[in-house]
Amino acid sequence: MKDYKFIAGAVCPSCGDTDSIILKNDDSIIKCISCNYFEKKDKKGTESIKIIND
Ligand SMILES: [Zn+2]
Repeated sequence: MKDYKFIAGAVCPSCGDTDSIILKNDDSIIKCISCNYFEKKDKKGTESIKIIND
């Protein structure tokens, strides 16, 4: 997983886990380590991933 970094506060749209979303270092792919959710980011960004900033 060295090509990936965790997104702090990100909520998985599939299983609802927080801090389980990892982002590839080139920002092309998002994955959830809890449920194997997988999403390819397009140039608009990923709207399905919600970030909790509190
Ligand atoms: Zn998940």
